[in-house]
Amino acid sequence: MTLIYDLTFEELEEFIVEKGFPKYRAGQVWHWIYVQKIDYFNQMNNVPQGLVDVMTENFTFDSMELVIKNVSDDGTIKFLYDLHDANLIETVLMKHNYGMSACVTTQVGCNIGCSFCASGVLKKQRDLSAGEIVGQIIKTEKDSGVRISSIVIMGIGEPFDNYKNLVKFFKIVNHPKGLAIGARHITVSTSGLVPKIKEFAHLGLQVNLAVSLHAPNNEIRSKLMKINDRFKVEEVIDAIKYYIQVTNRRVTIEYIMIQEVNDSVETAKELAALLKGMNVYVNLIPYNKVKEAPWERSTLERREAFYKVLKDNKITAVLRREQGHDINAACGQLRSQHL
Ligand code: SAH
Ligand code: SF4
Repeated sequence: MTLIYDLTFEELEEFIVEKGFPKYRAGQVWHWIYVQKIDYFNQMNNVPQGLVDVMTENFTFDSMELVIKNVSDDGTIKFLYDLHDANLIETVLMKHNYGMSACVTTQVGCNIGCSFCASGVLKKQRDLSAGEIVGQIIKTEKDSGVRISSIVIMGIGEPFDNYKNLVKFFKIVNHPKGLAIGARHITVSTSGLVPKIKEFAHLGLQVNLAVSLHAPNNEIRSKLMKINDRFKVEEVIDAIKYYIQVTNRRVTIEYIMIQEVNDSVETAKELAALLKGMNVYVNLIPYNKVKEAPWERSTLERREAFYKVLKDNKITAVLRREQGHDINAACGQLRSQHL
């Protein structure tokens, strides 16, 4: 059976017409799925029984099962889900002053192999379908009773390594008659897959882009990210420049701060020089220790000194302090505790 959340609006329309029902019924069904958030098609009380039956025979709402739900004092809620094939994924909800944000997973495991990341410990088992990513939004809303207003694609996996399903996911959550989560309220984070950054520039959606740079030169970046052997710092920077030129949009540079690896004042100067004149914003994130990796979090003093260098060089940056509010640090770690 097909997961209902795997269909775009156009695909649903096509299916309904194919089964002999008028096109406008798709709008009603879509409303039931994404606005009423039904669990069974027989909850649709304004469509013919024949259509209810056809939908019931062909589609399921059941993408995954809740295994663990963790609520912390600051309002962060972490969910561990079983995808019915014994694969576990994680979704995190974070409170912001402008609403609730969901951090979603795009793959089971990750093949990029960053040395600091709990998600990369497990090789990619499989990609998530678009509907399994959409399902995380619907399911976490139901399992928590909150309304999600923004999405960050920073959970387990490399979203640009699951590009087709990612784009489909955007179209589904973005649909104005459904969840209607605006592209500007969605941020996708990539480890820097250069060809995909360029392709993404031409997508024509105003989804925000974040790139995990973590180092201003190849020597340091290669220590942290195996992917740097394929796409060097210069190539990643060129791709970001290309993206900015095409879209005229600001890019977030993600930079996790690791003690005595990428956090010196000299490294900060190098980063400032690299990013000079670019329409970017640097997100300095305290590294969250994972037991598999040898790295430690930078001290607050070193993080503050690093930040000051960027500020003095007129690079827009933000220094994230609280770990509980750091969605990056939150992702991927619940799952790794349960492997
Ligand atoms: N694969 C994508 C998106 C998922 S990771 C990417 O790498 O960008 C999302 C963010 O979490 C990335 O910026 C990643 O570097 C960061 N991250 C991973 N492990 C972390 C850790 N232990 N502490 C802090 N941030 C971490
Ligand atoms: Fe994969 Fe991102 Fe983790 Fe790197 S940081 S291993 S790309 S999920």
